[in-house]
Amino acid sequence: MQRRAQRVTGLGTTIFAEMSELALRTGAINLGQGFPDTDGPSEILEQAVDALRTGHNQYAPGRGVPELRQAISGHQRTHYGIEPDPDREVLVTTGATEAIAAALLGLVDPGDEVVALEPYYDSYVACIQMAGAVRRPVLLRAPGFRLDPDELRAAVTPRTRMLLVNSPHNPTGTVLTPAELAVVAEVALEHDLLVVTDEVYEHLTFDQRAHVPLATLPGMAERTVTCSSAGKTFSVTGWKVGWACGPADLIASMLTAKQFLTYTSGAPLQPAVAYALRLPASVLDDLREDLENKRDLLCDGLTSIGFDVYVPEGTYFATTDVRPLGYADGVEFCRELPTRAGVVAIPHQVFYDDPDAGRSLVRWAFCKREDVLHEALGRLRRAYG
Ligand code: PMP
Ligand code: GLN
Repeated sequence: MQRRAQRVTGLGTTIFAEMSELALRTGAINLGQGFPDTDGPSEILEQAVDALRTGHNQYAPGRGVPELRQAISGHQRTHYGIEPDPDREVLVTTGATEAIAAALLGLVDPGDEVVALEPYYDSYVACIQMAGAVRRPVLLRAPGFRLDPDELRAAVTPRTRMLLVNSPHNPTGTVLTPAELAVVAEVALEHDLLVVTDEVYEHLTFDQRAHVPLATLPGMAERTVTCSSAGKTFSVTGWKVGWACGPADLIASMLTAKQFLTYTSGAPLQPAVAYALRLPASVLDDLREDLENKRDLLCDGLTSIGFDVYVPEGTYFATTDVRPLGYADGVEFCRELPTRAGVVAIPHQVFYDDPDAGRSLVRWAFCKREDVLHEALGRLRRAYG
């Protein structure tokens, strides 16, 4: 008897869990899974403690607590000039992961095609498969990792139902430019497609780069679901409070799916995320600046050791090519890395349908304390320098 449904066949264990486990087992420094090694701002944590102590411990409403839905709407207005209706156009989810899962389960039928940027964040592949849909990649190629408009157009067929767009992009660090976003919008409008965006790194863009939600482009609000999360923005990845904003009918279909996945999410954390979203922009600027310094620290260090480094425009991650160090294959490099250098990183290959496209690329997380990054670089220099 086959004891596994086809919808999960081949999905295995996430690379992030595997690599974090490897780091724990070997005592290596974990520059694999993207989570900060410090807590988010203490005033945000205090809000969660208060909520735990003041009776916010039973089920939140399925759509999320009103205070948080209002804060999400206010955040979209303050930062992007759009104002989703907190009662109909906002849904609180268990991380962006659940928002994306609910979008695929609630908006896509078996056999539909979903176009996504390759390399793909791993949950897209899994959720597209669990929805019975078919993924169509549009490759972001090294060294620039830019979106090629012709490749995007070529990926769309009469069966395409959705564009799933991640910017700032994990793992490449690409932030789509206004011109690239305009092409995505043009294709969506021309083919009457739904668009789901993953903007979890919206506040983590560097060198003064602006993040522009696709929903703000002309004609896009009616067809776009914007997903994000508190985890990356406020350095609380374990909280798993995310959200989706979009047209009321699309949000309603997602809620139908969401209510049978988790029904509702982390009640005492929701008021704290509402508080965080209302903090002055300077708090976000400080978090971003701190991360940008860490990006520079890691990228400069990796360059000086001899890696080819692709400096990211946003996110928690830098990508390197390991060929200058004599390796052809990132998986082989990452497998040796904990024992040879005492560091863990993630091979890009796992994010591609075509492993050759990312064969020699390796992703490094820099959302770690500066002393940890220095220690990791010291270890790498001794092993490879
Ligand atoms: N999308 C991307 C691109 C990510 O890197 C992550 C990891 N944080 C997620 C979604 C998942 O976000 P969450 O932890 O809020 O579910
Ligand atoms: N988003 C994180 C990363 O890319 C990992 C989240 C997870 O483990 N699912 O490293």
